[in-house]
Amino acid sequence: MGYYLLDGITLIFAASIMKITEHLRQATGPIISLEILPPTKGKSIDSIFNLLDPFMEFKPSFVNVTYHRAEQVYKKRTDGSFERVEIRKRPGTVGICAAIINRYKIDAVPHLICGGFSKEETENALIDLHFLGVDNVLALRGDAAANEKTFLPHPKGHHYAADLVEQILQLNKGKYQEEDIIDGVKTDFCIGVAGYPEKHFEAPNLQTDIDHLKHKIELGADYITTQMFFNNKHFYDYTASCRESGVTAPIIPGLKPITGRRQLSVIPSTFNVEIPIDLSRALQSAKTEAACEQIGEEWLLNQCRDLLKNKVPVLHFYTLGKPHIVNNVLKQLF
Ligand SMILES: Cc1cc2nc3c(=O)[nH]c(=O)nc-3n(C[C@H](O)[C@H](O)[C@H](O)COP(=O)(O)OP(=O)(O)OC[C@H]3O[C@@H](n4cnc5c(N)ncnc54)[C@H](O)[C@@H]3O)c2cc1C
Repeated sequence: MGYYLLDGITLIFAASIMKITEHLRQATGPIISLEILPPTKGKSIDSIFNLLDPFMEFKPSFVNVTYHRAEQVYKKRTDGSFERVEIRKRPGTVGICAAIINRYKIDAVPHLICGGFSKEETENALIDLHFLGVDNVLALRGDAAANEKTFLPHPKGHHYAADLVEQILQLNKGKYQEEDIIDGVKTDFCIGVAGYPEKHFEAPNLQTDIDHLKHKIELGADYITTQMFFNNKHFYDYTASCRESGVTAPIIPGLKPITGRRQLSVIPSTFNVEIPIDLSRALQSAKTEAACEQIGEEWLLNQCRDLLKNKVPVLHFYTLGKPHIVNNVLKQLF
């Protein structure tokens, strides 16, 4: 866990660039950003470039790259017995961020998660990022491992995203895990955290969840990126509730196209979000895959138009699945 291949990419980082909060402050019009996943182990970085190249005409301000813990899988031995092994199927977040900055000269935002990582492994990843000139990070808790019912922290790791935020802030002050490092170099990370317009599924109610979000911001996190939502009212109400609760940090809306009927059950159960009745009815009565894609595209386009009309300054797109739909939406927006 926690190793990164950095060969050949250490020369490139004169270009890096801006903190997400600066992007938001300096924007003279709406800005867009994207989220991508690292390819599964064994696949080429070209899959990332092939996904991102068509988006460059829209000048995304930054690209988020998700972070994934190792999973426990059972492998069959030659004698027929099974062995439990840990495999990190999607490593490479740090390297991909470096490759994005190098190729496109735009910012990359690596996600970091608590689950499955010790504080030291996280610190080492942060040191890699700092050396590469990547000074944005989205700090998350991560979900329970596939073989666990509830989230269990790594024995030497963090329980909540807030604890990870604190670790990053300590590093920004030059405080490392090893207490005998004195005068340690100070990092300068701009820290994003997650917010849930429809409530994080573990929280007893939305207000408690917002209180926990407020804690992350009061510690020193700089901005919030939201879970996907398919009804803008959830985002507007959430933003209003956050402001009423004293959360003043920028809130970036996360947007995802629905592209098929199967997602009508997969998305709510995976992300604990609601799909509006008009959208689910339209998808259920669509006759072909192309018709489903058309419906998903129009829904997303209307969501974006409404957000822009309501002066939301940034749109963040989850590209997993069918990125060409996000691309089609951007073509119609800009
Ligand atoms: C924008 C975005 C990007 C994501 N990227 C990734 C990724 O790259 N990799 C990945 O594995 N997952 C990712 N996730 C999923 C995320 O890890 C899960 O949703 C996870 O379950 C919660 O993460 P968090 O950072 O919101 O956790 P936290 O902020 O720690 O909150 C988790 C839960 O604990 C509660 N809570 C917080 N503090 C306390 C406290 N002190 N006492 C009691 N309860 C508390 C909160 O209300 C919430 O219910 C992402 C989610 C979002 C929205």
